[in-house]
Amino acid sequence: MSLPPLVEPAAELTVDEIRRYSRHLIIPDVGVEGQKRLKNARVLCVGAGGLGSPALMYLAAAGVGTLGIIDFDTVDESNLQRQIIHGVSDVGRSKAESAAASIREINPLVNVEIHDTALDRDNVREIFSRYDLIVDGTDNFATRYMVNDAAVLLGKPYVWGSIYRFDGQASVFWAEHGPCYRCLYPEPPPPGMVPSCAEGGVLGVLCASIGSIQVNEAIKLLAGIGEPLVGRLMVYDALEMSYRKIKVRKDPNCVLCGENPTVTDLLEDYEDFCGAVSVEAQEAVVDATITALELKEWQDAGKDIFLVDVREPAEYEIVRIPGSTLIPKGEIISGEALAKLPQDKQIVLHCKSGVRSAEALAALKAAGFKDAVHLQGGVLSWVKQIDPSLPAY
Ligand SMILES: [Zn+2]
Repeated sequence: MSLPPLVEPAAELTVDEIRRYSRHLIIPDVGVEGQKRLKNARVLCVGAGGLGSPALMYLAAAGVGTLGIIDFDTVDESNLQRQIIHGVSDVGRSKAESAAASIREINPLVNVEIHDTALDRDNVREIFSRYDLIVDGTDNFATRYMVNDAAVLLGKPYVWGSIYRFDGQASVFWAEHGPCYRCLYPEPPPPGMVPSCAEGGVLGVLCASIGSIQVNEAIKLLAGIGEPLVGRLMVYDALEMSYRKIKVRKDPNCVLCGENPTVTDLLEDYEDFCGAVSVEAQEAVVDATITALELKEWQDAGKDIFLVDVREPAEYEIVRIPGSTLIPKGEIISGEALAKLPQDKQIVLHCKSGVRSAEALAALKAAGFKDAVHLQGGVLSWVKQIDPSLPAY
C-alpha cells in the first residue's frame, strides 16, 4: 500500500539547502519535490533517549524543517552507552536542551521546538496537534498507550519502536489506513511481566537499528514514497541478525479504532491502566515496607535478618547490599526457592527499585511468610542513603 505524502512541499529550496541535501536530490524518488516536503514537515519525537537519539539526529540531517522534542528527564551517565545525541558534558543537563544543541550542530537549518515537560493527558493533544507526524521513542507502557490513543483521536500517524536487550520492533500506526497499537496489543502486559531496559538492559546499538527504521518510515510518510510499515510489524533479532515482517490487521473490535469504539477520549490515568505493580503487590507492601535507614539500623543492631536480593545474577555482580543472598524473583514466584528461606529469621526482600521485591513479597506472604518485609526503593535507595560510594546503575 502506498500512501499520499503527508506534507505539501515548501515553496523553494535555498542554494545552501541544495548544496547540503544534494545526495537526496539526485535520488529520483526523493528529488527536489521530496526534499521540499521534508523542509515543510513538522515532526515530534517523544523522548530523547535510546530511540529518540538516533531518530532526532537522522531526521535533522535529512532536513526535516521543524523537529519537536519532548522529554522531561536529565542526562545520566548510564544513558551515554546508547543515547548518542548526548555527550559527557551534557550529564545533568535537560535531555531536550542537550538534544536541541546537538541538532543545531548537525543542521542549523532545522527549527527545533523544545517541550521540556512530561507528556500527560492535559498537554498531549495540544502538543501533538502542532505536528504532522509523531515518532514514539517512549520506554514505558503507560506513555505508549497514551501516545497511541492521542494519535488515533487526532487522526495522526505515528512511527512506533521498542527495544529490549537484543530484540527490537517497529511499525507505523495510522488508524485511518490500518491498525493502531491497541489492535496489536489490546491489553498492557501484567505488571512486572515485561522488564524495562533499566531492569533488563539493552544493547546500545540496537537503538540505532530500530531508531533508523523509524526515521526511514518517517521520511517515506512525509514524502509519500515506498511502502510504509502500516499494517506490518517489523521484528528484529540482533543475535540471529534476522528481520521478520508480521502482518497486523485492523481489529474491527478494537476499543479505540474499531467499528464500535468504547474508548472515545483519553483515559483518566494511564499509569493506573498499565498498573505499575499488581494489586497483590500493592496489598502485600502495606505495613511490610522498610527504608534503607531502617535496614541499616537492623544490621547495626545485630538483628537476625535474612536479606534476599531478588534481582538477576548480572545485577548482583554490579552492586550488592552487604550480607544479601541472591535468589532471583522468578524462583520465588515459581515456589522453587521457598525451601531455601529460613522460618525463624526476619526476611527482608530487595531488588533494584522496589517493584520486583513487592511482587516477590506478595508470593512469600501467600506462601505463609507473614512477617516478611521489603526494602523501599531497593538498591538505589541503599546507595543513595547509606553508601554513595557504590555504583547506582
Ligand atoms: Zn485499533
